[in-house]
Amino acid sequence: MPLTDEHSAGPYDTVLRGGHVISPASGLDAVLDVGIRGGRIAAIGADLAGVAATEVADVRGTLVLPGLIDTHAHVFEHVSGRFGLNPDVVGVRSGVTTVVDQGGPSCMTLPGFRHFIAEPAQTRVLAFLSAYLVGGLEGHLYDQLYSPTGVNVQATVASAAANLDLVRGIKAHAEIGGFARWGIEVIELAADIAHQVGLPLYVHFGQLWGLPASGANGEDADTIVERVIPLLREGDVLAHPFTRHPGGFVNRDGEVHSVIRAALDRGLKVDVGHGSHFSYRLAAKALRAGIVPHTLGADMHGYNTEVPAPAGTPVEHPDEENHPFLGQARFSLTQAMSSMLALGLSLHQVVEMVTANPAAMLGMSDQLGSLAVGRGADITVLRDERGSFRLQDNDGTVVTTDRLLQPMFCLRDGVRVDADSPILPQAVPA
Ligand SMILES: [Zn+2]
Repeated sequence: MPLTDEHSAGPYDTVLRGGHVISPASGLDAVLDVGIRGGRIAAIGADLAGVAATEVADVRGTLVLPGLIDTHAHVFEHVSGRFGLNPDVVGVRSGVTTVVDQGGPSCMTLPGFRHFIAEPAQTRVLAFLSAYLVGGLEGHLYDQLYSPTGVNVQATVASAAANLDLVRGIKAHAEIGGFARWGIEVIELAADIAHQVGLPLYVHFGQLWGLPASGANGEDADTIVERVIPLLREGDVLAHPFTRHPGGFVNRDGEVHSVIRAALDRGLKVDVGHGSHFSYRLAAKALRAGIVPHTLGADMHGYNTEVPAPAGTPVEHPDEENHPFLGQARFSLTQAMSSMLALGLSLHQVVEMVTANPAAMLGMSDQLGSLAVGRGADITVLRDERGSFRLQDNDGTVVTTDRLLQPMFCLRDGVRVDADSPILPQAVPA
């Protein structure tokens, strides 16, 4: 018996036939058909074959999921230098219907981000606004731009508050290079911004900038997590927990910081922020200690993908070759999902991390992250490949997995976009 709305008896524009539908937010986990009309889900049922449809997609053997949400993207193309990728290359062309730019635009550049990036994109583009006036130019390559004097609380609060349709959080960095230069003040200012405007603060952990010539100045990367957490509130997000760089959830003695469990118990969230920082070794350690991330976040950008630098990009920065964002391993959001499966999380958990949980983080659970009749047809279809595949992080750790998820296509408001992104990694047989 199909679950349908009152207008569903007529023909559909599209029927996705026979896929494994998984939508934790709406309690679906079964082989079902999905009928779409007018850009919305009109029916979800065991057999819609008898109803006329303009187009029928046979998706047997695939996973049919709520449109994937990438909580950590860098898509301020042409403004953030080599760092910013095209939003549709990271988004719909990679099977991802919503991307959240982490700290690319600032209060000064947000109007340009809206006009030139978010509005023209086929992908739904949202942002966590940079706490810094300068935003995320060149992936924060020039450390001197990120001091407390480069933060204006009032202007950033005003910008976020005036753009809540686009801005769903604030982004800042808590790492040893910045702490050695300026201490914790930037994070205090960023928390003030986020809490004044009532949005989550997303905090990057793990070394980003090199130490200044004067050294660490009494700072210790292993104390940063426990000093920042007291500044954070329920809903704020700890990012890059499994970083291979100093200052993540696992300290130099190989122990998970004792304060993490209590932080999660009082409602702080954890985003993987996979990308160049991710370490299978440290992820396995934290997961064994019961630290399960809420959201995934691919964290792809121009330094960890292979795309030509935009025309007119300046000559290479002298520190670039040592930049912690660099890495040879190639990623995507679906590859990050495969990583989580390989580490022992269940498919249900991993699907929640890219659908229901990020929708909640964005305060958009009423619109995103769930498949249900009457909702927008925001759907991702993945191939669920079985075999023996090789995954690798930038620490050189190789993991062999028997399951690889690969995007086939997505529907954004009912419009199909095939997963033809040039930055999608190919399957590597083990
Ligand atoms: Zn990032």
